[in-house]
Amino acid sequence: MNRTLHRGIGMTSQRTRERLIQRLKDEGIRDRKELEAVRNTPRHIFVEEALASRAYEDTALPIGHGQTISQPYIVARMTELLLEDGPLDTVLEIGTGSGYQTAVLSRLVNRVYSVERIEALQRQARSRFQELRLRNIRLRYSDGGMGLPEYAPFDGILVTAAPEGIPLALVEQLRTGGRMILPVGTQAEQVLVRVIKTDRGYEKEILEQVIFVPLLGGVQ
Ligand code: SAH
Repeated sequence: MNRTLHRGIGMTSQRTRERLIQRLKDEGIRDRKELEAVRNTPRHIFVEEALASRAYEDTALPIGHGQTISQPYIVARMTELLLEDGPLDTVLEIGTGSGYQTAVLSRLVNRVYSVERIEALQRQARSRFQELRLRNIRLRYSDGGMGLPEYAPFDGILVTAAPEGIPLALVEQLRTGGRMILPVGTQAEQVLVRVIKTDRGYEKEILEQVIFVPLLGGVQ
């Protein structure tokens, strides 16, 4: 057993992890491959050791720098919305944070690009991917509002921090027919939105209420 990988987690880990999978199923997450990706991604290594015992609760947790690791349900839900019409080849994520969403995605698509504006978070995420031997992830330290034009177009884009409106630079980096799942709104009110790029522009659908940290400009 790899000592680092299992740090901070006791004998009950397998049971608490299974309980989380059951909870996601109860909340309506059905896709077998996706549940498998969550099952195979040890969330306790994406939080500080002091919080490891809470890693399999279905809640967001602080990761420092005023940021949070997303709630497992919302990670599963956004992944499901991104992949609902079938597998995707390349996906861009905005807001690497702890890297947990990135890691789950990396098990389901060919390549994940992920952008983060706080360097310390990016560094920690990178070492977690090495520890888990996830090799199809490319990280970039930059302002995600600009996307990653040099690798566009993407089949899908997932945004894990909320802009106040749909960033057009990101829509432009989707291939036609590609989709973006993102929270949009202020800290007082946000909704999850699905954007599909069309020949002429894009279509959008508002899905449900959510709470994310804001998408901020620039890098730190
Ligand atoms: N997917 C992450 C969510 C982290 S919270 C996880 O599950 O851990 C959102 C992240 O978006 C934070 O790390 C924050 O620093 C980052 N972020 C906010 N604005 C950004 C921007 N303009 N460009 C890149 N990253 C940004």
